Amino acid sequence: MAPIGETAGTDPVSPDAIGSYWLASCGDDLTPRPALTSDETVDVAILGGGFSGLWTAWFLLQAEPTLSIAIVERQFCGFGASGRNGGWCSPRFPINPAALTRRFGAETARAILFAQQAMVDEVGRICEQEGIDAHFNPVGVLTLARSAGQVPSLQQSYDAYARLGMADVCELLDAGQAHEAVHATDVHGALRLRVGGTIHPGRLVRGLARALERRGVRIY
Ligand SMILES: Cc1cc2nc3c(=O)[nH]c(=O)nc-3n(C[C@H](O)[C@H](O)[C@H](O)COP(=O)(O)OP(=O)(O)OC[C@H]3O[C@@H](n4cnc5c(N)ncnc54)[C@H](O)[C@@H]3O)c2cc1C
Repeated sequence: MAPIGETAGTDPVSPDAIGSYWLASCGDDLTPRPALTSDETVDVAILGGGFSGLWTAWFLLQAEPTLSIAIVERQFCGFGASGRNGGWCSPRFPINPAALTRRFGAETARAILFAQQAMVDEVGRICEQEGIDAHFNPVGVLTLARSAGQVPSLQQSYDAYARLGMADVCELLDAGQAHEAVHATDVHGALRLRVGGTIHPGRLVRGLARALERRGVRIY
């Protein structure tokens, strides 16, 4: 078995040694694919078999199914953040919708947020289409206020969504409703986004790699 830091060639990898619950429970054989040992000519060469590389290949093939694509991964697909993340399939942008609107204007903010929301459904749809059992669970996303001081920022986010015409995707919960939803301590309120949910990133990243190979992508 290869150690955690570097995999050696195509040695089998012990899922337990990787230090990721998601990779340990992904149900796939993590043995690295054979290395690229000679020159190869392809239309598109991608470095890295994480979500960036794999989704790029997947969408390129949607646009142009005849493309020849090779992915060269240093360890094994999912070795990086893609196989070790929080498991959220979330439509949230790293800054709240009020700040997004302030910085980029309503039209851009709306376009970004709609695209993020559409992405969640699309991940679920692609999993179904490709037969990837990634435990996609579109239960929505709750943002909790854990102090009274955090409540106004939830209200601000809600108002910003409403101004952007997205009141239907979110809901403000009072302290009682928020507590009822998650039974966390010191909850003063919550903002519920109806879009978003959880996903098993290990199963998704490994399933995507297999799906790409079925479509002719070569992974090294
Ligand atoms: C702690 C944490 C929690 C997160 N939680 C979430 C979450 O809940 N939901 C969410 O959507 N996102 C989350 N993210 C973000 C998400 O995981 C990343 O945005 C995503 O995995 C990035 O994918 P990537 O392909 O760009 O990078 P990676 O998954 O890191 O993939 C890069 C790949 O490139 C390979 N590589 C590196 N160097 C080379 C080289 N020279 N040649 C060939 N291959 C190379 C690596 O081995 C690796 O496999 C989280 C991230 C972190 C760190």
